[in-house]
Amino acid sequence: MKPLNADLHCHSTVSDGLLAPSDLVRRARENGVELLALTDHDELGGLTEARATADEIGLRFVDGVEVSISWGDDQTVHIVALGIDPRNTDLIEGLRQVRSGRDSRAGHMAAELDKVGIHGAYEGALRHAGNPALVSRSHFARYIVEQGHVKDVKSVFDYWLAKGKPGYVEHAWATLEDALRWIHGAGGIAVIAHPGRYRLSKAELRALFIAFKDLGGRGIEILSGSAKDDEVREYSRIAREFGFLASRGSDFHGPGESWIDLGKMPDLPEDLTPVWSQLS
Ligand code: AMP
Ligand code: MN
Ligand code: MN
Ligand code: MN
Repeated sequence: MKPLNADLHCHSTVSDGLLAPSDLVRRARENGVELLALTDHDELGGLTEARATADEIGLRFVDGVEVSISWGDDQTVHIVALGIDPRNTDLIEGLRQVRSGRDSRAGHMAAELDKVGIHGAYEGALRHAGNPALVSRSHFARYIVEQGHVKDVKSVFDYWLAKGKPGYVEHAWATLEDALRWIHGAGGIAVIAHPGRYRLSKAELRALFIAFKDLGGRGIEILSGSAKDDEVREYSRIAREFGFLASRGSDFHGPGESWIDLGKMPDLPEDLTPVWSQLS
């Protein structure tokens, strides 16, 4: 049987993506996606529009969100929540709290960037984000490219915004416990996003998987836009060992700015149980 083209991780203008929710849904359909989840960072605001468009064009849609958490020694980890009820008040309030730290973090980032010759970054990033509660490093990166400092967003991260670089500031996101409580309370399935992208040792990553599973976490992203072949093999092995459901998501942010376009990832290894088998 032909595997389902599911894309369960992407971003719209409601967080740090470049396309409005409705345009994202249409693009997914044009790319052959058969099941789509919108997973904006810490924000549910695009789901109504995305679902309405998906209904209109006959695309199966899952309500999602990508929750930022802090883990261990100032490591940021992302948990994708799938099949959540976007009206759940604990989830709404929890995410509001997570977002509330972004504005002051952006002020600190801009102050650090100013010291290394990048001026006006707070205002510039805010212009791209449109809302102080949504300002992310992606918006800073777009402003810095626009100012002609480097040619692309990826280079901005390499020079200024990745952990350890001059514009990086530590930040306390949600705890793993809180995030999983909100997700489960809203009827969703929690999935560890892009496990290959964290700067964690093998032992630290393993501790994360154990804690995640203990708290009822059920899924892991095997095919994310950035996953290399050896990572796909490694996290497939982890999925088998821990009994995790396997997810597949592009992490698409916009044309020309992402690892891969919507729905263009390879298929999951056949023996894994896809997370969408558990989504209605
Ligand atoms: P923030 O939530 O503000 O820390 O921003 C994180 C976002 O920055 C991620 O969701 C990605 O969209 C983007 N990002 C992180 N690292 C990179 C990178 N190396 N290249 C391009 N975008 C990145
Ligand atoms: Mn992002
Ligand atoms: Mn992420
Ligand atoms: Mn993402």
